[in-house]
Amino acid sequence: MKKNNAHKTICSYCGVGCGILVEKDSKGNISVEGDEEYPVNMGMLCSKGKTLNYVAQDTSDRILYPEMRWGRNHPMQRVSWDTAMDRAVGVFKSIINKYGPDSVGFYVSGQCLTEEYYLVNKLTKGFIGTNNVDTNSRLCMSSAVVGYKKTLGEDSVPISYADIELADCFFIAGANPAWCHPILFRRLEKHKEENPNVKVIVVDPRKTQTCASADLHLQILPGTDVILFNAIARYLIEKKKIDKDFIKKHTVNFDACKESAFQYSLREAAQLCGIPVEEIRKAAQYIGNAKGFISMWTMGLNQSVIGVSKNVALLNLSLLTGQIGKPGSGPFSLTGQPNAMGGREVGGMASLLAAHKDLGNPSHRQEVSNFWGGKEINPKPGYTATEMFDALDEGKLKAIWIVCTNPVVSLPNAKKVERALKKASFVVVQDISHDSETTKYADLLLPAAGWLEKEGTMTNSERRISYLPKVLDPPGEALPDVEILWKFAQKMNFKGFNYTNASEVYDEHCLMTKGTNIDISGLSYDRLKNEGSFQWPVPHSKHMGTPRLFNDKRFFTNDSKAHFNAPQKIENQSEKTSPEFPLILNTGRVRDQWHTRTKTGKVQRLLTHIPEPYLEMNKVDAYLRQLKEGDIAVVKNVRGTAQVKVKINFDIREGMVFMPMHWGKILGKDFGRANNLTSNLIDPISKEPDFKYAAVEVKKY
Ligand code: SF4
Repeated sequence: MKKNNAHKTICSYCGVGCGILVEKDSKGNISVEGDEEYPVNMGMLCSKGKTLNYVAQDTSDRILYPEMRWGRNHPMQRVSWDTAMDRAVGVFKSIINKYGPDSVGFYVSGQCLTEEYYLVNKLTKGFIGTNNVDTNSRLCMSSAVVGYKKTLGEDSVPISYADIELADCFFIAGANPAWCHPILFRRLEKHKEENPNVKVIVVDPRKTQTCASADLHLQILPGTDVILFNAIARYLIEKKKIDKDFIKKHTVNFDACKESAFQYSLREAAQLCGIPVEEIRKAAQYIGNAKGFISMWTMGLNQSVIGVSKNVALLNLSLLTGQIGKPGSGPFSLTGQPNAMGGREVGGMASLLAAHKDLGNPSHRQEVSNFWGGKEINPKPGYTATEMFDALDEGKLKAIWIVCTNPVVSLPNAKKVERALKKASFVVVQDISHDSETTKYADLLLPAAGWLEKEGTMTNSERRISYLPKVLDPPGEALPDVEILWKFAQKMNFKGFNYTNASEVYDEHCLMTKGTNIDISGLSYDRLKNEGSFQWPVPHSKHMGTPRLFNDKRFFTNDSKAHFNAPQKIENQSEKTSPEFPLILNTGRVRDQWHTRTKTGKVQRLLTHIPEPYLEMNKVDAYLRQLKEGDIAVVKNVRGTAQVKVKINFDIREGMVFMPMHWGKILGKDFGRANNLTSNLIDPISKEPDFKYAAVEVKKY
């Protein structure tokens, strides 16, 4: 039931983007509950969303004032905002003058609001003159972005959550939505309970909670996804379970897909994937017989050295079956972070331009630079997330400004990230929490406002744009991120940053989208506040949004057809295991923690689920190493070590181990940090890291 005087907002955690009602009592205390009127969650919230009131009100770890040090051996000391900004401007100007604009960079976050993302992008690309702005969304969805662009012509999730209730076959690959997208998964579970004929296929080397709802669990060998998807494609083609009419009228390049799919027989594919051939046939039959087929995926496919190949091979299945642009069907990448999609809309990555314009297209660059009235846009793509820290390590990048993210815990090969930050000439960290491990490397620490303390917008996994109001005053001297960014730009004497509120930034962004495929020129703050959320595009002020794309089967490509793509790589290209490091380490999330725990780590209730890092291991591998449940093990490889308690089961395949990615330092030690061990490899096109596959050995401590 809607409370009187409740503020409608959106959860600040995952890309599901649940609606929340926030109520403030006379003493200023807040309570939260799920918004029953919100079309995403209809009142439901998961454990993380339900406890957001604790996070929002606990200011014990908050950065309250700007802090600065004059040198690495000097202590941090409180300074005024003026002094902090003067220092930032002074150092950035002097580095840019000496080494050029490509010597500085911004590393931001999928948790930033769209307005913040827009401004940092404008500041960097339009005025400093470098494309060195990237985001932790690079670690999340960039392989899916490339897959969508290659196949559909645009970074565009075609469907809505409402399509879940219309589908009868779900193919969930490289995802554990029962834990990581819980409310979305509750909708799927309920749909299956009410419709027992609905089929759920899960592809995962681990038997996760999601498998409890599966009719079929394909427990493949890590890295063999493309081989599996191609085998399913082959079966569908051979058994004539494809939509020939759709393929003929609305697609190109079918032969390339077919040639790739026929590279291995089903038996060969089954052997390479480590699963019975009957299971591949069964999965293909479920898909081929479906009236509404939805594929869902996330980090298991994206965070891979062949992430783009995995994405295009999966997207091919939707095209083969004609299951796109109609009710209850389509590919559906599950975004990890709450605003990863909003960030891409404003071009908040080193390889993108605002409004989904193309950095490689000279006329797009000209349009963007004319619109902003700043510098010519540099055609050279900037450093992506891991490249940025490599460039710091190599001395090519001198200064980095980190907004709302904790790369010391979340980036692969964490020791290298720490070394890079130590080598940097100047590190600015703009965040809410002192508990972020990255703040220790800051020369300048800027206190940012958090959830409920600023207004702005976010876009969830289904292209739904929602407004988040300011409900609380930020503590101390913390400021909204947009304000920090425009203060800096003004002090740099950049024109076009004389904003007075976030709404002006939003309006500018909307204007830039006019006439594009993501046109939201008809969606004002007023409409969002008064009428609720909308799914883009929303091209005029009477338009009610677009729940499903491609109903007319006209895609965003130049020829309006969907494009089949042959995956560039079929076999995995990850680092090889060896007699010294014979096990494959997979990393991922647990149900009740979020990213590097700067928020969820403060909530006791969330710690009752899984309170500490662990290593999941198959019983056979544990037996061979004389490890028992609860023993402390040392996980080791060429990059580092971790010491964690062992959890032993048969849910994980032999030959692989799993560690959650959330933990950084505990009592000053980094023994639970999974990213001490993760690989340096990235997908060559999407530049997304290979978080799911590192060669390690495990020994008893
Ligand atoms: Fe928040 Fe995601 Fe949970 Fe919804 S499912 S309440 S968006 S964490």
